[in-house]
Amino acid sequence: MKFLVDLHTHTLSSGHAYSTFDENAKFAKENGIELLGISDHAPTMPGGAHLYHFTNAKVIPQEVYGMKVLRGVELNIIDYNGTVDLADSIIKSLDYSIASLHPPCINFADIKSVTYAVLEAMQNPLVNIIGHPGDQRYPQDLYELARMSKMTNTLLEVNNASLDASCLRVGVRESLIELLHYCNDFDMPIIANTDAHICYEVGNFEKTISFLEEIQFPKELILNLYPDKVLEFLELKK
Ligand SMILES: [Zn+2]
Ligand SMILES: [Zn+2]
Repeated sequence: MKFLVDLHTHTLSSGHAYSTFDENAKFAKENGIELLGISDHAPTMPGGAHLYHFTNAKVIPQEVYGMKVLRGVELNIIDYNGTVDLADSIIKSLDYSIASLHPPCINFADIKSVTYAVLEAMQNPLVNIIGHPGDQRYPQDLYELARMSKMTNTLLEVNNASLDASCLRVGVRESLIELLHYCNDFDMPIIANTDAHICYEVGNFEKTISFLEEIQFPKELILNLYPDKVLEFLELKK
């Protein structure tokens, strides 16, 4: 399998990432990416990008080294009503958004509160992707997430970084096995992303590909193989 899409990548502007946009783009190209997204952390993340980083995103070219480029953001879900941390008008000016749960932007909580928060975020027409679902420090009703994904065309992410042994998130692998089982039942595609915080990782999906092969997840539901379908899904929420 050759993945052609990576929509979750961070640059120096995220505060705890180490590469420039151009460095990321070069490695994306080298790794065969055709559709690249830039998604720096929104302002609630300590050291995250300033508001102006997003309002100025128009300076990022729509095509670089022959790849199509999308300007995005990784929003923080900041309360249990699913509120995200950028004004609608700013999110609207971007091509897509990812919404994620991150300490210290929101405290760990019980399954009912966390599930409600994520489901509310998914019903936000400006949220396209839920970043790294399945972290058991934030317990979630995975069946409900898959059902809402289908209902709202909000994509659930298989996060390559979450599958790394060094990742601080807990129990992601077993959560993803359950979550992807439900997505398959609902005939709902998923998107995989690297969540690269340094250029060398952009477009490197080694762990995700072996995971998806291991669980025999159907190729037709892996959007990274179909850049045009990714664009169609982003359009569906507009
Ligand atoms: Zn994240
Ligand atoms: Zn991220």
